[in-house]
Amino acid sequence: MNTLMIVVPCYNEEEILPDTVSQLTGVIKRLIDKDKINKKSGILLVNDGSRDHTWEIIAGAHSRNKFIYGLNLAGNVGHQNALLAGLNMLKDSCDMAISIDADLQDDVDVIEQMVDKYIEGADVVYGVRSDRTEDSFFKRFTAQSFYRVMSGLGVKTVYNHADFRLMSSRALKALSLYKEQNLFLRGIVPTIGYNSDCVYYSRKKRMAGESKYPLKKMVSFAWDGITSFSIRPITMISMLGLLIVFCSAISFIYILLSYFLGHAEPGWSSLMISIWFLGGVQLFSIGVVGQYIGKTYMESKERPRYIIEEFLNHEEEPQNGED
Ligand code: UDP
Ligand code: MG
Repeated sequence: MNTLMIVVPCYNEEEILPDTVSQLTGVIKRLIDKDKINKKSGILLVNDGSRDHTWEIIAGAHSRNKFIYGLNLAGNVGHQNALLAGLNMLKDSCDMAISIDADLQDDVDVIEQMVDKYIEGADVVYGVRSDRTEDSFFKRFTAQSFYRVMSGLGVKTVYNHADFRLMSSRALKALSLYKEQNLFLRGIVPTIGYNSDCVYYSRKKRMAGESKYPLKKMVSFAWDGITSFSIRPITMISMLGLLIVFCSAISFIYILLSYFLGHAEPGWSSLMISIWFLGGVQLFSIGVVGQYIGKTYMESKERPRYIIEEFLNHEEEPQNGED
């Protein structure tokens, strides 16, 4: 039978953590009773450099409750890194890991469905919010525009999926091959490949404490997401440059006409043509230089070029790798 670990990044969550621990323990116990997971399953709480009593609560829960594991990071490294720390720690010791936020805004009742999908053969199961009526209008609007921009830029993301997902241990091992610093997990996971599936739930309100994603963090997170997956903004600059060169060619005719018809002040025609033409050429050149920088940027991520699904041979297990 399979070992399930639930990974929970926690940053200043003292108000909510005791309740989260008891709810998740309940989920684990129910799944063990139903023989879907084994008794080695548990919950890994990752303390992301909290300034309140989060770690004391985790340590206390660990000493009382055999399902609770704790990981204390030396400082605050942000949600994505804290989550990755937990997942990397578990990649060799569990069969599947589910990541969920400490505030349990995501429905713990669908964890069982996630496990079922894993048993049916899915390596990644995305938790997808089927309705966001509990979120504020602002959060809903910004989040949805973000998903649209991402897909417009050609980045594969799962619409309305945040970081509530199940990953099999082989998917976790594949994830650990991504060495990039700017971590945007919900963009990386779909690029891994493997069988994936979705479960749907409606997102709840935060029970206590406040969102750890104020507007500033949200914007920088979204910007991180866009810039770590797409160099299309650079291409847009080149395109704009070309467009301006083209427009300047058209205005060239107008300027020449004005000149010959005598409507133009001396010096105006040459000045206008130079401004537009040179502006366009410069923008285009910046775009071209940008393309190289973009390529260098993508290379510097050293992402794995492929992930192996299956290898039919007569000896040992395949190794994922760059070459
Ligand atoms: N979190 C974290 N480090 C941070 C910020 C947040 O580990 O620097 C955790 C937080 O404890 C929670 C999760 O990330 O478990 C999501 O945060 P939150 O619920 O505040 O985000 P929201 O639901 O408002 O997007
Ligand atoms: Mg939340």
